Amino acid sequence: MSEKTVAAISTPSGEGGIGVIRISGKDAITIANKVFKAANGTPLTSLAGYSAAFGYVFDGAEQIDEAVATVFLEPKSYTGENVCEISCHGGQYVTSAVLRAVLSAGAVMAAPGEFTKRAFLNGKLDLIKAESVMGVISAKSREELRVQLAAKSGKVSEEIDEIEAALLELSADFAAYSDYPDEDLPELSASNFERLINLAESKLSKLFLSFDSGKILREGVRAAIVGKPNVGKSTLMNMLSREKRSIVTDVAGTTRDVVENNVNFAGLNLILADTAGIRQTKDVVEEVGVELAKDRLSSAQLILAVFDSSDELDNNDKEILSLLSPDNTIVVLNKTDKQSKIDASAFGGFKTVLISAKNALGEAELEKAVREITAADSIDPAAALLLSERQRDLVAKALSTVTEAKNMLLGGFTIDAVEVLVEDALSTLYTLNGKRVTNEVADEVFRRFCVGK
Ligand code: GDP
Repeated sequence: MSEKTVAAISTPSGEGGIGVIRISGKDAITIANKVFKAANGTPLTSLAGYSAAFGYVFDGAEQIDEAVATVFLEPKSYTGENVCEISCHGGQYVTSAVLRAVLSAGAVMAAPGEFTKRAFLNGKLDLIKAESVMGVISAKSREELRVQLAAKSGKVSEEIDEIEAALLELSADFAAYSDYPDEDLPELSASNFERLINLAESKLSKLFLSFDSGKILREGVRAAIVGKPNVGKSTLMNMLSREKRSIVTDVAGTTRDVVENNVNFAGLNLILADTAGIRQTKDVVEEVGVELAKDRLSSAQLILAVFDSSDELDNNDKEILSLLSPDNTIVVLNKTDKQSKIDASAFGGFKTVLISAKNALGEAELEKAVREITAADSIDPAAALLLSERQRDLVAKALSTVTEAKNMLLGGFTIDAVEVLVEDALSTLYTLNGKRVTNEVADEVFRRFCVGK
């Protein structure tokens, strides 16, 4: 346990209802007690863990704010140390003033991620769970939050534990044979070796693949709304984001830039571009937008291609359609509140959804289509999903070592040679979950955290 008691503002900077100054370390309660006087006169140092007191924060003799102080006593706290959280008003000046008072009373400023790092060092969570703390904070959609929470509750760690257990059993079996180097392996043991190494390999391989399937959750889905002018793209964008951000007008060609918006839709974070209407144009400024729209088509993972169902398809519509692929496109037939004139047979092969963007009708059907085309439903948010590059790299390393060990085992190499590889794979897994980790690796993980976490 670290000697120093650290403090930081744990809430984001800006104005809000409350701001929290967190203090952690051996002297956390004593230090908090120097700056905080409870209204009922009870010193914080006499409070039991998990209790709170209302009172006043002082910097010397000067009262800075009213606040609630919550006391957690080691080991039952986030960091595993004594912790006091002072919840004062959430202003930039007032939270800094409270922090300054706490620092003058003997705490030192916490480094980024220091609270979670202390939790890790005190055995409260492993390195994978610690990474998912950051993931929970930065989650941008319902589904991402669910996978981050699953990792935080130990889904990935449990998988790693099972792989570790298989490799350890293998290693112990090898040790039993090392006394008889010249002896042939009995049938039974050889098949047990194979079973264990296959188990480790298949679990590692599944974890490795999970990184890619979780990509749309971590990074969001690059999406684009396309269609000729006036079909209702901006109105659809507004319907999706439930905010009036794009300009909606009756004059064809008003949306000239690609407006990018993070939109939470269908449980996913759509990085949505509302592109300029694709059509032949003589307007140079507009042309730039049209080029951008075409660019976007080639890079998007999801395209919402909007057509006006109250009109017949014209050459512009047909040209747009010719640029699209059913693999990543949902045809959105808009303005279904009006009489239909469109020939829907032109969209054969495409997933098609009927909506009235202006009246926000058809949202549930569109949501369903988005989940289908992005394969969001095939991701089990409760499953073990690798969530960081660090995790993926280490799993890849362990996997290739285990595969090499397996090939050697099947190729009749000596047990000693195979054992070296198994030990190597184990040590990679220990770096992954932090069971055996250098300071540099731990620092690298926590460096990405924000101050106060
Ligand atoms: P964009 O150029 O494709 O972005 O089209 P806008 O979103 O600016 O819409 C063009 C016009 O169509 C506006 O007058 C909208 O109010 C109208 N509009 C959009 N969606 C609908 C709809 O579902 N029904 C009807 N009747 N009009 C719509």
